[in-house]
Amino acid sequence: MSQGETRHCLDPWLNAFIQYNGDVNPCCFVRTVWGNVHRDTATEIFESAAARELRRQLLEGDLRGSCVFCPARPMVPLATLREAVEGLFTETPAPSSDARE
Ligand code: SF4
Repeated sequence: MSQGETRHCLDPWLNAFIQYNGDVNPCCFVRTVWGNVHRDTATEIFESAAARELRRQLLEGDLRGSCVFCPARPMVPLATLREAVEGLFTETPAPSSDARE
């Protein structure tokens, strides 16, 4: 693993992996429980300390546990993931009427 790199993974921003008992993990590899759908709201789950910490680790390339050896997401420069995350929060302008002609 090179310094200045991280996994190209948006899962902790977009997905929830819900177990049979309602426990929520960020993906099928990470076993850290972010919350439980029977007890917590979606906001509480996605803004939990564990959720924030995993997002920090990915954004800073401070990979731990399953993310180090993840078979699903390739290694990329930190800037690549950061741009992808910023893109999640950037509104896409509606097409102009000219574009439909
Ligand atoms: S284990 Fe892989 S898929 Fe899961 S959060 Fe880490 S990089 Fe993303």
